[in-house]
Amino acid sequence: MIKGQFPVEKFQSIETPFYYYDIELLHKTLDTVKTAVKDKNFHVHYAVKANANPRILKAIAAYGFGADCVSGNEVLRALECGFDASKIVFAGVGKTDKEIRIGLDNDIFCFNVESLPELEVIETLASEKGKTARIALRINPNVDAHTHRYITTGLQENKFGLNERDLPKALEMIGAYSHIELIGIHFHIGSQITDLSSFEDLCVKAIEFRQRLKSWGAVLPLINVGGGLGINYQHPNHYPIADFESYFRLFEKYLTMDDGQALHFELGRSMVAPCGSLITRATYIKEGINKKFLIVDAGMTDLIRPALYKAFHHIENIGSDQEYTTYDVVGPICESSDVFAQDISLNEAKRGDLIAIRSAGAYGEVMASHYNCRELPKSYFSDSL
Ligand SMILES: *Cc1c(COP(=O)(O)O)cnc(C)c1O
Repeated sequence: MIKGQFPVEKFQSIETPFYYYDIELLHKTLDTVKTAVKDKNFHVHYAVKANANPRILKAIAAYGFGADCVSGNEVLRALECGFDASKIVFAGVGKTDKEIRIGLDNDIFCFNVESLPELEVIETLASEKGKTARIALRINPNVDAHTHRYITTGLQENKFGLNERDLPKALEMIGAYSHIELIGIHFHIGSQITDLSSFEDLCVKAIEFRQRLKSWGAVLPLINVGGGLGINYQHPNHYPIADFESYFRLFEKYLTMDDGQALHFELGRSMVAPCGSLITRATYIKEGINKKFLIVDAGMTDLIRPALYKAFHHIENIGSDQEYTTYDVVGPICESSDVFAQDISLNEAKRGDLIAIRSAGAYGEVMASHYNCRELPKSYFSDSL
């Protein structure tokens, strides 16, 4: 098995667990995305919720990408880290008045509106400020993303987005309002999508909705197809960069745009997951009856995906080149779900060995908690160790 390249010597003096970000890989990834959308009317907004580490945000903002935010504080964080307000989109089913005001005060590019009552509140708050809010209607396209049910968002009965039957009412309301400008339609069908045919289905639906809205007189400068492109968690060393070329080519092929119409994307995981690893240390090797447990000092408080979604992360013992042995890798938290992997093959471990839990750059650090009074993991970067 090939292992990832880690500066193991430098890690020895750092207290574990911590997140380690490979900035070179992040830059390569961002270069790939930038190249793939070059010369097209494609606009990428990085989904801040995947990883809101300021260092990572600044790197992404420096490439000129926009930000996709799902809370008022994410909007503020994105602005602080250098994202242009004119490239910030703001989604979320429960935007509070305070959060909507943050968006209005900063003149963000677009609110992705998820319900009729939200439309009414944005109109009221925008009118109080004498501003016009640009909005896109988030539509539930009823596309199956063929992914984990907790991360599928585009099916019919779902808290996200507007249903088809709400659309005439939404257009009627917007027509009567004077502080809302409809600039597009928005979709987001789910996350960790590796079967690209789901995106083809989305293209078909997007075209249908565009036609229907057009027939009702709505002019749509943009279509926003959300995010969800998956990565290869199994083989991070062989597939360190998601297949952005195929992804963008698919939209170019299946979602032909009207003249001047822009296509917007909101990619989170695929932009940042591969560059992050959670580095932890073997605390104990415990011989069970039929199993060996490798107990590490990171837990579900540092990386919750395995416990929350039974998500798979490739794990390597970067401190050993001994023979391979089968382990359950578990954390110290008082929850039986605090398991990183079961029956996996690792170089035989001893107390103190450094263990890398790979592809943890998305929905990792940003979801860390203080449960069990634990400290939040720190982060380190390959270019400033
Ligand atoms: C989470 C989210 C994204 C990003 O999803 P990824 O799977 O990380 O690419 C994009 N848009 C919206 C509205 C989201 O909620």
